[in-house]
Amino acid sequence: MDSRDVALQSVMPTVMVPRFSELEELDTSGNRILMASNGVWLEVCRTWLYARMPIAPPALIPVPYGEVSAELRFGFGKLPTAMVSQFIELARIRSPNECAAWIVWNQRTGKWSLRMLEERSVGPGHVEVVRPALAEDEHMILDLHSHGLSDAYFSSTDDYDDGRGEVKIAGVIGNLNKPEVTASFRLCANGVFVSLPYAIPQG
Ligand SMILES: [Zn+2]
Repeated sequence: MDSRDVALQSVMPTVMVPRFSELEELDTSGNRILMASNGVWLEVCRTWLYARMPIAPPALIPVPYGEVSAELRFGFGKLPTAMVSQFIELARIRSPNECAAWIVWNQRTGKWSLRMLEERSVGPGHVEVVRPALAEDEHMILDLHSHGLSDAYFSSTDDYDDGRGEVKIAGVIGNLNKPEVTASFRLCANGVFVSLPYAIPQG
C-alpha cells in the first residue's frame, strides 16, 4: 500500500466490531471508525473524553459483526459551571456585541481556567477571535460564545467553525439583556455534533 495511505489510515482506522467478545475500547488519543451490525460508528478518545456516536445506518446486507451502543464519558469530574456563570456576566457587559471564551482544563493539576478571547473583529452579529496558545498539559474543553440579544442557537457559521474536526464542547449563550439567559451546548467531535443537556445556573 502507498505510504500515504498507511499514514492516512493510521489516523482513522476502521475496526470490525467482534460479535462474540467485547470491543476493546480505544484508550489513547485518537479516532476510529467502528463497523458494527447496527451501523457505522465514530469512536473518539481524548485525555478528557471517550465517545461513541452513530454516523451511518446499518449495511443493507447482514454483516458478521457485533453491536455497539452510544457512549459518552468525561475524564474530568464536573464541568466548571461557576466559570460558565462568570462568562455570562462578562458577556452581559459586552452585549449587544458578541464575545467568546475558552474554558481550559489542566490534566496534570485538574484545575480549570476561563480565558476571554482576544477579538479580531466583533459586532452584534459576529465575533472573530485569536486562538490562544495552550501549554502542554492544557486542553480547551469548552468553547463559549455569546449571541448578544439574540437567542442561543448554533448558526451556520457556528456549524462551520465547529465542524472542522475539533473535539470540544461548544456553548452559546443568548438573550443577555434578559434576566434568564438562553443557552445551548453540544459535543463537537470530528464534525459530529451531540446535543448536551446543560442547566445554566441563573444568577
Ligand atoms: Zn453563534
